[in-house]
Amino acid sequence: MDEQYTVLVADDEKVIRDGCSLILQPEGYRVATAANGQEALELLRTEPVNVVLCDLKMPVMDALQVLEEAGNHYPEVPIIIITGHGTVANAVECMKKGAYDFVTKPFRVDHLTLVVKRALEKQRLERQTRELREEQARNLYTLATEQSRVHTIINCMADGVLVTNRDLEVVLANPALMQLLGLSTPLLQPAPLAAYLDDNSLKEAFHTLLSNPEQDNVRYISQELTIDRIHLRALSAPFYGPDLQVLGVVTVFHDITGFKELDELKNDFVRMVSHELRGPLAAIKMQHTVMLDGLAGDLTNKQRELLTRAQAKLQGLLDLINELLDVARMEAGHCPLEQVPLPLGEILVELVELLKTKAANQQIMLQLAIPPDLPLIPADRRSMEEVFMNLLCNAINYSPNGGEVKVSAVSQGDYLEVRVSDTGIGIEPEDIPKIFDKFYRAKHPQTRQVIGTGLGLAIVKNLIEAHRGSIRVESQPGVGTTFRVFLPAVSRGQDVDHA
Ligand code: ADP
Repeated sequence: MDEQYTVLVADDEKVIRDGCSLILQPEGYRVATAANGQEALELLRTEPVNVVLCDLKMPVMDALQVLEEAGNHYPEVPIIIITGHGTVANAVECMKKGAYDFVTKPFRVDHLTLVVKRALEKQRLERQTRELREEQARNLYTLATEQSRVHTIINCMADGVLVTNRDLEVVLANPALMQLLGLSTPLLQPAPLAAYLDDNSLKEAFHTLLSNPEQDNVRYISQELTIDRIHLRALSAPFYGPDLQVLGVVTVFHDITGFKELDELKNDFVRMVSHELRGPLAAIKMQHTVMLDGLAGDLTNKQRELLTRAQAKLQGLLDLINELLDVARMEAGHCPLEQVPLPLGEILVELVELLKTKAANQQIMLQLAIPPDLPLIPADRRSMEEVFMNLLCNAINYSPNGGEVKVSAVSQGDYLEVRVSDTGIGIEPEDIPKIFDKFYRAKHPQTRQVIGTGLGLAIVKNLIEAHRGSIRVESQPGVGTTFRVFLPAVSRGQDVDHA
């Protein structure tokens, strides 16, 4: 026995009390004794009693009275009635009043120990059941408070929250969302998504998240939506059931109208200033060209040198202005793309031809590996020229003299992959996530030697994404860099139509 149990024997006959002690103590029980019911109740009050063996008939207070008192104050303690043969009927009466069992005098050793053991087992089971019930009640209480807390948080959030199930029905929409959408009366739930928001890009995002079995593949989708002149950033994430099946999508809507208006103002300002600067700068450059061509009279060597240097600076300024205008145009969405089936291979050949002299000046070997049967891509010619001109110029600019720059293209299923690799200075791992940000330039001593704005790759990424493509970069400092561009190809059927 791990725990020592106490059995209280209440009997007016000393011989019974002693007999019970003799039987139970060797079994590991502690035995407390009382000569009548009152003493028994006193012991119950002061000692940790587990089971009571109680004689039916005792002076001062008999078993029935003990049962009543103990039942009120110590309901968890089982009481076994000790009775003679003639009074079994009374013992049964006691059981109706709550006694656990009875033993008849003279009792057998094994019978007594068995009844006590069973009473203890019953007590243990009852305690366990009670504890489980209490724990369950506590859990239910915690759950209820937790639910009400979560409910309060969601209802008080300044951002809109929308929860949809697998059938794209809305199961939760918080007050902030109702206000953003201009809805006043709560709709019955679940309600169709269209009753709240009829936006195809949002629906597409939900379908992507719901149909994605690999839970790690798409963690969330971020998009911008415009609803009645309100600009919203919507961040949607799937939520999973215990079997890791996607159960639905939670979307948080943040009002970005204020930021958008500021951005618009900034873009207007950049566009206006750039336009105002571009005209006079182009005119000054033209006048320099006239002088350098000798059309305004002979120049001394010194004058020629100064004008050539000024010419290079002017070109740098014009490049910066053109790039700023491109970015402003793209961000304002004023970037009409005329997408026609394009032979990208031919464009790459032309660009490499154009850059031959620049590469040769740096003793850089320019290589081209374009297979003849490349599929066409639906794209805007000017954009593609800008993308690959930027990547190729960077590859040459950020390579030391004597390096190698290679352009290759392969067809990859529905996509065309173009790689622009160099054996240049490379990019440090911590710079890689930032190089596509506007104005970001890696802090490398060799980067400083190259005149640049830090806008080229931002434009490249924007243009590629506008063509539903993507760009990746792999680089090793001191070894070289490879930019991989993926662009959707025209499917063979379409190809024939356009040919
Ligand atoms: P810019 O070349 O005008 O600085 P980009 O946006 O084209 O701006 O490039 C951003 C930065 O990325 C560059 O400043 C440079 O640090 C890094 N970078 C781009 N291409 C390469 C390359 N091929 N090799 C090494 N670094 C590069």
